[in-house]
Amino acid sequence: MKETNVLHKIYQYICKDTGDRNESSKLIVVVRLLILTMIVYSLVNGGLLLFSSNINGMGICLISTALFVATFILSYYRGTFVSFCILNAAILVWIIFNIVMFGWNIGVQHFIIVLLISCFFAKYRHEAAKVSYALALCVLRLYLFFYCSANTPEVILTAELNNTLQLVNTVAIFWSLSMIAYIFSTDTQALEGKLIEYNEQLITQASIDPLTGLYNRRRTMDYLGKLLKTPDQQISFCICDIDFFKRVNDTYGHDVGDIVLKEIAKTFQTQLPAGTFVSRWGGEEFLLIFPALNGDEALIALETLRYKIKAIVFDGGSETFSVSLTFGLVEYDFQSDLNTLIKQADEKLYLGKESGRDRIIF
Ligand code: GH3
Ligand code: MG
Ligand code: MG
Repeated sequence: MKETNVLHKIYQYICKDTGDRNESSKLIVVVRLLILTMIVYSLVNGGLLLFSSNINGMGICLISTALFVATFILSYYRGTFVSFCILNAAILVWIIFNIVMFGWNIGVQHFIIVLLISCFFAKYRHEAAKVSYALALCVLRLYLFFYCSANTPEVILTAELNNTLQLVNTVAIFWSLSMIAYIFSTDTQALEGKLIEYNEQLITQASIDPLTGLYNRRRTMDYLGKLLKTPDQQISFCICDIDFFKRVNDTYGHDVGDIVLKEIAKTFQTQLPAGTFVSRWGGEEFLLIFPALNGDEALIALETLRYKIKAIVFDGGSETFSVSLTFGLVEYDFQSDLNTLIKQADEKLYLGKESGRDRIIF
């Protein structure tokens, strides 16, 4: 329990914000973790050099440790950007110093990649500065390589110590790169996840009628447009309209009218053949699409539906009532355009209304 508390306190201490507005709190965490990595790393190296009686090397490591401890403390008193710059400068000095002292083979030059990655992940918009810094790091790495080719290191290490330091460097560099990528990518992944979810919600909201839960007119036009482009089988569709619906509203109230609309929408969804596209075309009009039925097959399905709807008993308060629908059914002729087909269905619906309602005109 105590241990968990101590760990939690350390975690909070590392995450402590610098209080800068508009600053990503992730960057200061990365900066502090990198500094801690450097402190541990310098101490391990110092220990190894002491163990090999390399007093000069150990001295360098102690100076490095002190430098990084100072950088760590500064990160609580300066802003994120300043701390980030100080850390970069400290690591650069440290890389150059180590290479001059111990040579190329201990692999310390790979820390340049850590600086490169952290610079691009830092969410500052100084693109030109970032590219210039990347170029400068590239030049520095090349310069150090040629410097090492031409000069022998100040401190000659044994082959064993060289390999051990190479190992320590590799671990420290992989840890640093993974830590940077992990911390910044979790941010991005969470954000991307939220965006995808939000987008899906928007798409749904933009295509569903909120009262009935049916597809709206916009979504229906999209669907029909695509369907007519690739017709490999018979397609039928109809526009239907509730008869004397204004009377329902006037007699029983708008709320009862809404209940009727919802109940009819539910009946469409449950009683029509699977695969039927059901939409609220507007007000008390619906458009039903049968993507694999010819006109005669659709007519049979609609006749059953017409009776099912008429059989629903609605509660109007003082009395019960039922409603009927009139349908205009059209079979796709494989040549007419969308607007012509909708006009045909509308004309048939009008004909149905004119000739007495509660019927299907095909
Ligand atoms: P017809 O048989 O000729 O279709 O007669 P009708 O009364 O159904 O047609 P009209 O166009 O005169 O009236 C349609 C009514 O539908 C008027 C409008 O208030 C009502 N309406 C449209 N949308 C809604 C809605 O979302 N909820 C409710 N309760 N009523 C609606
Ligand atoms: Mg009507
Ligand atoms: Mg109408």
